[in-house]
Amino acid sequence: MDRLRHAYPLCPQCGAAMGRREEGGVPRPVCPACGFIQYLNPSPAAAVILRRGDEVCLVKRKFPPKAGQWTLPAGFLEYDEDVAEAAAREALEETGLEVRITGQHAALSGMLPPDRPVLLIVFHGEVIGGELQAGDDAAEAGWFALDDLPGPIAFSTHRRVLRDLGARDVSKEPS
Ligand SMILES: [Zn+2]
Repeated sequence: MDRLRHAYPLCPQCGAAMGRREEGGVPRPVCPACGFIQYLNPSPAAAVILRRGDEVCLVKRKFPPKAGQWTLPAGFLEYDEDVAEAAAREALEETGLEVRITGQHAALSGMLPPDRPVLLIVFHGEVIGGELQAGDDAAEAGWFALDDLPGPIAFSTHRRVLRDLGARDVSKEPS
């Protein structure tokens, strides 16, 4: 993987052409004029597992990447947002359900196609209000039995969580 493919060509502080410097074996974009260092990190995202008996709540993505495929309610954190609050916010925006976060399931590394590394924090949540209704960037939202999931399920992280919950037939797109 080319770690520097998302490096700024020009320094965002002073406009000089960015250079490179090794730091502990890791190549980092560095500005030779003002010393600005660009630290490249995965983008943090949060997802919520909502259960209703043997069912789990999934949303169908409206926009690329992976439009038309299904995921847990999930999204990227805002800059100053608490990660659990972000999970509850995304659930509300995408499903119309008011959610209380009850615990943490896992922290998983994944990739948002084509090449954006993501750190996905997965929570358990409980529905405390609202009406199920697809909103925001979801085309559909629904409850699905773990042994009868819709497909394809987008993203290896979301497929892994569904398998953790006991789903055996987690389909992804043919590749
Ligand atoms: Zn600079």
